[in-house]
Amino acid sequence: MTRGARLVVLGKQGAGKGTQCVRLSHYLAIPHISTGDMLRAAVKDGTEFGRLAREYMDRGELIPDDVIMGIVEDRIAEPDASRGFVLDGFPRTTVQAKALDEMVKPKAIDLVLDLDVPTELVLKRLSSRRVCSTCGANYSLEAPPKVNWTCDICGGEVVQRPDDTVSVIRRRLDLYEESTAPLLEFYSDRNLLARVDGVGTPDEVMERLVEVVDRVRAESN
Ligand code: AMP
Repeated sequence: MTRGARLVVLGKQGAGKGTQCVRLSHYLAIPHISTGDMLRAAVKDGTEFGRLAREYMDRGELIPDDVIMGIVEDRIAEPDASRGFVLDGFPRTTVQAKALDEMVKPKAIDLVLDLDVPTELVLKRLSSRRVCSTCGANYSLEAPPKVNWTCDICGGEVVQRPDDTVSVIRRRLDLYEESTAPLLEFYSDRNLLARVDGVGTPDEVMERLVEVVDRVRAESN
């Protein structure tokens, strides 16, 4: 894993994947590929695909496997991803995980990090989460932007995600248990999984992640 680190970050919605993936991508100088961000960009652009994706996302349902697999395959074929990538929000089903193995062949995924956070805590985090509708920066009721729900970074409007309402959050967490939790076994059987405690400040969690990443890099050198 000296160059071209290919990482997957798993974890329930609200476990802090987005925040930590941005940091990991800077730390390793590789792109952060978030399927949720790509889909939200399509929704915002108002493309036909965006309108279709929105129907699934607003209900907390998963986009069909073949559709999302096509999007990820195209993205990781781009030149910047030849150095490696941090995948956030993909794979979410065993079908997607098997497809990812095929996409990266003849290489393999180097490491899968599971950000472990108890369900009660993610429920609390998700219902208080607020995001910038322009740049996607994260805020919360406890840590709002400085001025009147206007993004500190870009001045965009800070809002609640349409899929962060209580009923949709419950559906997304049920789907996580049903479709995504089995991936923990899938990757642990391949000796790729490292579980990291996701409770704590972003800095504390990042420190734990870096420790694992550095250890795996040292072992593979
Ligand atoms: P996220 O920001 O990762 O929570 O993703 C937001 C929504 O986008 C999800 O609730 C799904 O509707 C959709 N989505 C993102 N990634 C995937 C994926 N790998 N497979 C299917 N749907 C996805």
